[in-house]
Amino acid sequence: MKKSIMIILACVMMIALSACSNINKNEKKDVSTNNKLKIYTTAFAFESFTEQIGGKYVEVESIYPPGADMHSFEPTQKEMVNIAKSDLFIYSNQDMDSVAKKIAGSINNKHLKLPVAANLKHDDLLANHEHDHNHEEHEHEHDHEESGNDPHVWLDPVLNKKIVKSIKTDLVEKDPQHKAYYEKNYKQLIADLDHINQQMRHITSNPKRDTVVISHDSIGYLANRYGFKQVGVSGMNNEEPSQRDLMEIVQRINETKQPYVLYEQNISSKVTDVIQKESHTTPLSFHNMATLSEKEVNDKDVSYQSLMKENMKSLNKALNN
Ligand SMILES: [Zn+2]
Ligand SMILES: [Zn+2]
Repeated sequence: MKKSIMIILACVMMIALSACSNINKNEKKDVSTNNKLKIYTTAFAFESFTEQIGGKYVEVESIYPPGADMHSFEPTQKEMVNIAKSDLFIYSNQDMDSVAKKIAGSINNKHLKLPVAANLKHDDLLANHEHDHNHEEHEHEHDHEESGNDPHVWLDPVLNKKIVKSIKTDLVEKDPQHKAYYEKNYKQLIADLDHINQQMRHITSNPKRDTVVISHDSIGYLANRYGFKQVGVSGMNNEEPSQRDLMEIVQRINETKQPYVLYEQNISSKVTDVIQKESHTTPLSFHNMATLSEKEVNDKDVSYQSLMKENMKSLNKALNN
């Protein structure tokens, strides 16, 4: 009798121990430059941040193929398996990104997925949003819902400070041995984000115009943060507008005498060509940082900061020239 209890106890302990070591194995691995953390992200901007903080100890890849439209992207079964086998999957959150929600749903261990926008609050996401209104009001609730689901959360440098902090914290948790290295890279990144925020404030401090026309609604967070309006030719999920919507947009552009339209790198649409032809506007380029082009993927100098530098030139023209 006593012996069998001992055996049962021993078994229980073995199971408990192996369960523990499994969790440890998942959370912490012996990370080195030869044994990097394998990380997948959705948007390129998240890839760029993770690469900059993780440096030589991470291998980061966006799940989107070069030039893809994230709004119509679907991963294959094999890609789903690869992501689930990696050390970490970084995405915005399940409300903003239904494809990421599906992928995250296939990953059981919560330590292997990081929804960087999950803890961003109402006031974070709707910067400069006036709160003397009644939130019960139907129309307003509707507005909130739409803004809250805008997937392009990685463009705003101020929101990004919170996002990169959660990435840094997660890397330190997984690989505490290289904490000092991650902290140093993180501080540099925060300094760059602060600098971009300053420049954005400067551009938008006393603008000649209050509206930016863009090929699809990707700059809602920047518009909220810095107090201008965006007019997207296509909506925030890149739905094609009807002929009637399109004509209304052209009319609006012409009425308000908008001289510029921002065209994004991965939006190749007949619709934007119509705008180009029907309105008397000058095209400017804008990078929404969801995905890179084939050429950019192989360019090691492309980062959130380098693309934002070019974006700010276009925004400055659109608002002030
Ligand atoms: Zn509100
Ligand atoms: Zn988009």
